[in-house]
This record gives sequence, C-alpha cells and structure tokens, in this order.
Amino acid sequence: MIPLRNNIASMAGYVPGYQPPDIASWIKLNTNENPYPPSPEVVKAITAELGQDGASLRTYPSASSQTLREIAGDLYGFDPSWVIMANGSDEVLNNLIRAFAAEGEEIGFVHPSYSYYATLAEIQGAKVRTFSLTDDLWIAGFPENYEGKLLFLTTPNSPLGFAFTPGYIEKIAQRCKGMLVVDEAYADFSDSNALDLVRKYENVVITRTLSKSYALAGMRLGLAIARPEVIAALDKIRDHYNLDRLAQAACGAALKDQEYFAECCRKIRATRDWFSGELRKIGYDLIPSQGNFVFAAPPDRNGKRVYDGLYERKILVRYFTDPLLSAGLRISIGTRDEMETTLKAIKEIG
Ligand code: PMP
Repeated sequence: MIPLRNNIASMAGYVPGYQPPDIASWIKLNTNENPYPPSPEVVKAITAELGQDGASLRTYPSASSQTLREIAGDLYGFDPSWVIMANGSDEVLNNLIRAFAAEGEEIGFVHPSYSYYATLAEIQGAKVRTFSLTDDLWIAGFPENYEGKLLFLTTPNSPLGFAFTPGYIEKIAQRCKGMLVVDEAYADFSDSNALDLVRKYENVVITRTLSKSYALAGMRLGLAIARPEVIAALDKIRDHYNLDRLAQAACGAALKDQEYFAECCRKIRATRDWFSGELRKIGYDLIPSQGNFVFAAPPDRNGKRVYDGLYERKILVRYFTDPLLSAGLRISIGTRDEMETTLKAIKEIG
C-alpha cells in the first residue's frame, strides 16, 4: 500500500463528461467551447513566437506573465498589480482554495454549479457546504454572516445559464466573512459582471477564462482580478512558470483583438437567442441563458431520452444524472449551421 493521504485515497477525482474517441466527426456541444477559431492574430503570434526552428522554446517563459497582466489590466480598468494570469481559470480556483482554506476549514458553493469546486475541496481536505437555489433562482438560506473561508459563485451559472445581478452579488459579498470568488467564466456572453465589486470589497475575487469567449480552451488560459494582497498570495502558490511561451503569445494577441472577440460573442449570443426561441416553440422549458449554452428540458422532462437520440445522430450534448438536472440537457451553442442541425434532430426525436 502506498502511503497516500486519506482524502486522496478516498476521493473519486473529477470526471469530465464522456466523449467518444472519434469526436472530431461529431457536432460537439458538451463542454461549452467556442465553435469559431480564435482570432487570426493568435495564430500569427504563436507562429512568430515559435520562429523557424522553435529556438525560443529552449528558454523559460516569463514567470510572471507581466505583459499580459498589463494588457488585461488595461482591458478591465485595473492596475496590473490587481491581475494574475493562470493556466486556465481552473488553476486559479485551485490556488484560491490552497491560499484561503486549510484542511478541515469550510468552503461553500451553490448547487448546481461547477462541480470542480468539490474536487478541489476534497484534494485540500476542506469541508464543503452547498447552498441550493430557490425556485426563482436566489440562494436559499444564505446566512447573514457566512463564516466559510471561500464562497464560489458561478455567474452566469453553469449548467443553468442564469446570472445573479451585481446588486445581489454585492449583498452576498457583504455577508461573506471569507473570500467571495465570482467565477465569471461565461460573463462575456452576459449583460453584466461584478468587476466594480472588486474595487469596493477587499474580499471579492473575479475569475475569468479565455477558454470560452476567446476560443482558447486548448491553450489553457485564465486570470483573476483582486486586491494586490490577494494577487501576491496567489503568486506565492502558483507554479512559477505557469503559462508557457506559446500560451503567453496567444493570450496577448487574443486580448488585444477586441474587435474579433466582440463579433464572436455577438454571433454566439444571437445564435443562442434564436435557438432558445425555437426550442420554446416546440414546448421546451428553458431558463433564459446568459452563457454560451442553454439548459433546456423537453416537455416530458426526460433529458436522457433526448440525449440518447442526439447521441445516435452524432450530436454530443451534456446530460447530468443529478436528480435536480436530469429533466434537461445542457447544450453548448455552436455555429448557426450546427444549431440548425441540432434543432432538426431534436424535432425528429420528438
Ligand atoms: N468555471 C466554470 C464555471 C467553468 O464552466 C469552467 C470550464 N468548464 C471553468 C471555470 C474552467 O475553465 P478553464 O480552466 O478552461 O479556464
């Protein structure tokens, strides 16, 4: 027997949604990726960084990704000392738990939301408290003074797609004695964000990803915005070369090409709103989505039946066995063509 820590021995580990080996020939709508390629500037920047013979790869990348902190700071209106770059926002979520919640201490999150928080807590040996949602999508029974070391608030929520209003998030921030992590992985597809709260409250951290709105899931890029004291703590914990050279080149180019980014988000939002309307016309129940996906339940509330029908037609969406979610499916928004094909398939399945 190897001498593992007990909590690692007993944990299951994060299980990503299943995908078939020949996924390249499917319509892939299961992990909220962007259906469009990243900005052409990204390809140019990676090619330039690589050069003729890849010689740049001999040497370590910038450890701090300082240039990117400056670009992101400019973009969001913060001094670079308020920004940290990450190897996907998952990295920064992980480091937030490591920085703020010791073994046995509590972290909280809403259920349903991003299931990776629970895995991270298990690794750390932190206790978990989940908060359910009321029917009108408020957090049920949130304490006046929440003592947990961290509260993760996914907004827009995945898998449900709704967003908390900034006013509501502010009330939650005031009730948190620990840190409030506002996971804004999908904020670029929504009408609001909580950036102002970071300036106002020292316990608020915002996390963002380039995986969705910037079409860079394959490069693993994310960031966090928070008070410099928080950023300094996260800097102590991260891998010291957490972003490789090609990722840094890609990130700078993507963040700078705001025109491409805005057009890409616009197209996805338009397709989302069209697709949502079409599903409603055939009796599907949908929460209005602020993300690049919809959560939709067929009239018979049998998500698995429709998942199987789509699967037979090589369209992969996300089905959750959780009783709270099994009535519906989370369907990422692809290109207009992909969504027309998906809609046709859904109508055939009935
Ligand atoms: N937060 C939420 C709510 C997500 O859905 C995801 C992606 N599955 C992430 C964070 C992680 O994103 P990434 O590590 O790709 O930046």
